[in-house]
Amino acid sequence: MKHWQAELERRQQASLYRSRRVLDGPQGVNVTIDNKTYLSFCSNDYLGLANHPLVVEALQTGATRYGVGSGAAHLVTGHSTPHHLLEQELAEFTGRERALLFSTGYMANVGVISALAGRNDRIFADRLNHASLVDGALLSHAKLRRYRHSDTEQLRDWLQNDTANEPSTTLVVTDGIFSMDGDIAPLPKLNTLCTNSNAILMVDDAHGFGVLGEHGGGCCEHFSLHNDTVPVLVGTLGKALGTFGAFVAGSETLIEYLIQTARTYVYTTALPPAVAHATRTSLRLAREEPWRRDQLKQLVAYFRREAVHLPITLGDTQTPIQPLIVGDAQRAVTLAEQLKERGILIPAIRPPTVPNGSARLRITFSANHQLADVTRLLETLKELL
Ligand SMILES: *Cc1c(COP(=O)(O)O)cnc(C)c1O
Repeated sequence: MKHWQAELERRQQASLYRSRRVLDGPQGVNVTIDNKTYLSFCSNDYLGLANHPLVVEALQTGATRYGVGSGAAHLVTGHSTPHHLLEQELAEFTGRERALLFSTGYMANVGVISALAGRNDRIFADRLNHASLVDGALLSHAKLRRYRHSDTEQLRDWLQNDTANEPSTTLVVTDGIFSMDGDIAPLPKLNTLCTNSNAILMVDDAHGFGVLGEHGGGCCEHFSLHNDTVPVLVGTLGKALGTFGAFVAGSETLIEYLIQTARTYVYTTALPPAVAHATRTSLRLAREEPWRRDQLKQLVAYFRREAVHLPITLGDTQTPIQPLIVGDAQRAVTLAEQLKERGILIPAIRPPTVPNGSARLRITFSANHQLADVTRLLETLKELL
């Protein structure tokens, strides 16, 4: 108990203490907190579907038809028609033989990695990968090495020279779009390296799925990569698709193997069928309304064109995740507070979410933002910086 209190105080003093805001009302570009409305650049609701009337309606219809709780794990009696149809649609959309739903992206990553790698295997992972990928690797008991961010030379070296134990499986794991930097993993190079050394490439496209590529197919579509160049693809449904849950897409064999062995799949309650039903609608909107991706591109281009004149470091990326690197955690917090006083919400992202000394404001855009929202953001930043 004493130790807990000491740790809380340490975090407070280091500007690392985090607390929650209570939103009253739906997620969106404008959110209400304590009866005040803010312009928000915080959510991962990139396509603006979290509160889309058709998705809301589908959730209601789903609840009427299928009830609220799924009542059991998928392998018992929790797997219902909307889950099954959504899996088929996700498989078709990603061009894979099969897709498998998980309750969250965190669980998908932990479950997949610990199912595919074990004690005698090795995992090479990007140093900036999402926490769930790190945790999955640790839980697998495989030998984990983390290469420098997007450093394919270092990875090449490890793949060629780190063969002492002659492992049976080598898994290379990367975010598709890195969640705190917004940059895209060098997938074509990673694919070549993996193919040449018989390693399996796993991509967590939580931020790319629905956003990148002409049809929203994500990182693979962005690079025009053939489907089997990324044999293990993870996507999440709580971000661009605006609902909840996650999926893994791949071969028939991969999916059947995961159904038997992924513990976060087997030993957990299936997500509510109504959520799967609603996600079918948001997947359809994501595919059929490319204007959402076009709008994002315009917002990002406009923001970057103007923000280069600000005295602050921009991230090197064209995706809807635009970090402003501040460095010091205290300064990031102060800036976020000043923005909030002026009616704009942007999260200050601090260690341990990002490396020490790289605290930042993480701006995310949504298709529901207007150019005027970006103008307001830029003018406020100009005033504060
Ligand atoms: C958000 C995120 C996850 C976790 O997905 P949830 O569905 O929110 O659990 C996994 N990987 C990355 C890269 C993410 O950004």
